[in-house]
Amino acid sequence: MTIKVTVWGENVHEQKNKTVAGIYPDGMHTVIADALNEDAELEAKTATLQEPEHGLTEDVLAKTDVLTWWGHCAHGDVADAIVERVHKRVLEGMGLIVLHSGPYSKIFKRLMGTSCSLCWREAGERERLWVCQPSHPIVQGIGPYIELENTEMYGEPFGIPVPDEQIFISWFEGGEVFRSGATWKRGNGKIFYFRPGHETYPIYYNDQVRLVLRNAVKWARPEGPRWIDAAPNVPVEKARETITVKGGRLHADGEEGFK
Ligand code: ZN
Repeated sequence: MTIKVTVWGENVHEQKNKTVAGIYPDGMHTVIADALNEDAELEAKTATLQEPEHGLTEDVLAKTDVLTWWGHCAHGDVADAIVERVHKRVLEGMGLIVLHSGPYSKIFKRLMGTSCSLCWREAGERERLWVCQPSHPIVQGIGPYIELENTEMYGEPFGIPVPDEQIFISWFEGGEVFRSGATWKRGNGKIFYFRPGHETYPIYYNDQVRLVLRNAVKWARPEGPRWIDAAPNVPVEKARETITVKGGRLHADGEEGFK
């Protein structure tokens, strides 16, 4: 079955910076969506910050299997109600791929619960992303590493919770290292952080980066039914074994929710 992907783009630097506009005249989100649509199993559409509800309406998210997130200078402009909506869908099982400067996004910080801080330098350095787990689905077809000639540096310490799986570790020309590919599970949802994607370099045209994005979307697809967090009350008479009520009670029969 086709995996439905929504590629979310902040789409600000593409409008304001000549270098970025030159590399991505139709926005980074369209190039990322094109990379995904190269695979017939994936159907990627785009959404941007500037659209009503940032393009992430209830309907769009309900039909999204995997959401990719690229944001940088306008993390604070993302409405809290939309963050809440995305968060709920991740817990239900929607996959989330957070790209490049996404660690400081509201949604990533909310899901991680930590600062997600990192150090950085913009000097066009070479980056080598070493594959830590050659058997992992996200790195199939990649080889031992990805080398990018010009990148922005991100360095440790990276303020994330210990990842469930470490997929890539980067080395930079200036000497720093960084956990540049990592996974977590939150509720039913699978999350992958993938570092490449600084907007002043043509990184989303790189074949290996594009392959990782396609692999990651397939890995992050939802599995099983959507999580229903309705805190259902199980009445005494429906307990698996026969029991009688002992002691005092706070709740009335038939009460729902968790209060
Ligand atoms: Zn950047």
